[in-house]
Amino acid sequence: MTFSKQILDLKQEVLQEAKPLFAHIEDVAEQNTLKVLDAMRECRVSDAHFNTTTGYAYDDIGRGKLEELYAKVFGAERALVRTQFVSGTHALATVLLGILRPGDELVSLTGKPYDTMQTVIGYDNPSPGSLKEFGVLYNELPMIDGRVDMAGIKNVITPKTKMVEIQRSRGYSMRNPLSIADIEAITAEVHRIKPDCICFVDNCYGEFVDCQEPTQVGADIMAGSLIKNPGGGIAPTGGYIVGRSDLVELASYRLTAPGMGDELGASLANNRLLFQGFFLAPHVVSQAIKGALFAAGMFAKLGYKTLPLPTDVRGDIIQAIELGSAEKLIAFCGGIQKYSPVDSFAAPEPWDMPGYADKIIMAAGTFVQGASIEFSADGPLRAPYNVYLQGGLTFEHAVIGILGAAQAVLDCDASRK
Ligand SMILES: *Cc1c(COP(=O)(O)O)cnc(C)c1O
Repeated sequence: MTFSKQILDLKQEVLQEAKPLFAHIEDVAEQNTLKVLDAMRECRVSDAHFNTTTGYAYDDIGRGKLEELYAKVFGAERALVRTQFVSGTHALATVLLGILRPGDELVSLTGKPYDTMQTVIGYDNPSPGSLKEFGVLYNELPMIDGRVDMAGIKNVITPKTKMVEIQRSRGYSMRNPLSIADIEAITAEVHRIKPDCICFVDNCYGEFVDCQEPTQVGADIMAGSLIKNPGGGIAPTGGYIVGRSDLVELASYRLTAPGMGDELGASLANNRLLFQGFFLAPHVVSQAIKGALFAAGMFAKLGYKTLPLPTDVRGDIIQAIELGSAEKLIAFCGGIQKYSPVDSFAAPEPWDMPGYADKIIMAAGTFVQGASIEFSADGPLRAPYNVYLQGGLTFEHAVIGILGAAQAVLDCDASRK
């Protein structure tokens, strides 16, 4: 038998207990589907927007329409949605490097930023091309018990503070993701203290988890990856930036060149995939969240610490599980990989990823390389050996993969006795 009786019995229990929680997730997915659909109707998306363009691609109507659509759905004035962004980090860095100037200060209000963003900032050392190398100042407000230190915000915002960065998702940490209500309160507090301070949200993994997005509740600009939530598992690559028109324009001069901005950039053959992925995204995100909830239920029953807890309301699609040893982390990832549609025969191994400080292990048998809206797990090889599980194009696949991971971790335990 593929999975032990213990695992299959637990599965039934967890699914039974999850039913009422799933109803809420399905309701959010329906509301967001309507939101996207309404915007597609208002923008009059049509077949002509899926045509290919090449070269400079001036007047690329598909590209323009897609950006109009993103802006509408995210309640923003303007958007840049491009496959020329190589990743989420690239889109986020484009915001920072496009807007900040020497002598300006950036303040992270959510403590230490995501690993790759530390390299962009020049956090530990002013790495070549980093903000610090350009003379941008940096400060941060540590989180308290996994939450933003609301009372401390007024102490870190100075006349030099041009921008605050707010990271919605947990990243590789055991803190809570921010809810939309949290982001609303934080941006209101920042704007109360310094009305012209730019509130920038790293929205990676947060899109469509709730019925509103950060730019609808006070954020001035935000960015994310198309191989996470908003690409719906269909976008082959890319990133997005949405927000205030003047700020998105500044970012566009960094993406292309001063004077060129967003008027160039061939969408090649990708437009249909970006529209279709965006349309599917609310549903795919709901599948991923159901998978995360199922994982939390399974591993909580197996005695592991999970964040969020099975019953917590979610702010991102990530499920963290504290596995406690390198062997279990490797076994867990091996179990996920084994039940992947692609590269199921591969055994994931820890490696030095560009931009990350510790070795990282990743299980990702995905159709799009590294796409973490597809079912995947990863974690840095450092105590307490947390695994971060996310994605799932279908809930059914997430369930099977989690059973595989649970079995591998149990087998790992058994072999050590
Ligand atoms: C994924 C992610 C990023 C960007 O990572 P890429 O791999 O470059 O797309 C940035 N911040 C957070 C919180 C993330 O989860």
